[in-house]
Amino acid sequence: TTTPVTVLGLGAMGSAIAKTFVDRGHRTTVWNRTASRSAPLVDAGAAAAATAAEAAAASPLVVVCLLDGTAVDEVLAAVEGAVAGKVLVNLTSGSPARARANERWARDRGADYLDGKIMGDPPYVGTPNVMFAFSGSRSAFEAHGSTLRQLGTVAYHGEDPGSAAVEFMAQVAVGYEFLIGFLHTLRLVQAEGVDVAEFAERVAGSLAGYPPLLTSFGKAVKSGEYGPDLGSLDVQAALMDDMISHRESLGVESVRMREVKELMDRRIADGHGDQGFSSLFELLAR
Ligand code: NDP
Repeated sequence: TTTPVTVLGLGAMGSAIAKTFVDRGHRTTVWNRTASRSAPLVDAGAAAAATAAEAAAASPLVVVCLLDGTAVDEVLAAVEGAVAGKVLVNLTSGSPARARANERWARDRGADYLDGKIMGDPPYVGTPNVMFAFSGSRSAFEAHGSTLRQLGTVAYHGEDPGSAAVEFMAQVAVGYEFLIGFLHTLRLVQAEGVDVAEFAERVAGSLAGYPPLLTSFGKAVKSGEYGPDLGSLDVQAALMDDMISHRESLGVESVRMREVKELMDRRIADGHGDQGFSSLFELLAR
């Protein structure tokens, strides 16, 4: 038998989540501020509640997926009298501090709290291609993990309710850091008259080399023992002036490469020119 589930918030993501629960045979109750958005889910077999509190009262597992923390505050205030004894799962993106505050709010009202952060796109909810990071109540995760796993690939990051948000923010940051560098490079490549789409495909084909490098960087940073990964800094730095002047000669932004060169120069000046790229980590504390 499957657990009845309530979903509060039927935007692109909340609707995809509710639809997945309906399709997997969960008795699903839905609510959305703009009531008309529940129509496709009702057609699929969900029950629409007239108020958020009525929806929350209908299931032991209450999933919240709204635009932001302000929306969550408003909807939680409306369900305040209906959450005692429930498991509240908040899948709204936001900071660790908000997650911890929501957990205290839930605890004070007799509810168990799980914070969840979603990495992936709504059309892929219900497949392994969407990652869900959870943290908070371990007993709630153990009781409802199998239901939550219907939504995608699930990981539990521990009882601190802020941990899922920490992971989410870091994963999003890795994406942005990588992709802004990629865009800078596409600018350079285009300025040289190279087909950017074909170049992007070649890069996609070479990304398989990165996972072992990431793993070895993690080990180097954790141990503080920096081997000459990507070559020694002395050798790598010798290329940097050309990397920068190449960009400048084409009128392309060079800020990223200037940052790398500055870090390499400082590390070498500190006497660590025999170490590798991962050792630049030592310079990144403020
Ligand atoms: P949408 O903009 O599609 O939906 C936003 C939802 O929030 C709607 O249901 C809206 O209700 C509701 N809402 C906004 N303000 C309030 C309020 N003050 N009171 C009550 N309800 C409110 O966003 P998504 O569904 O795409 O995103 C939801 C969450 O999922 C976000 O935190 C987002 O970061 C996260 N997420 C989304 C991804 C995506 O690709 N879409 C990917 C990963 C995470 P109404 O219909 O009445 O406006």
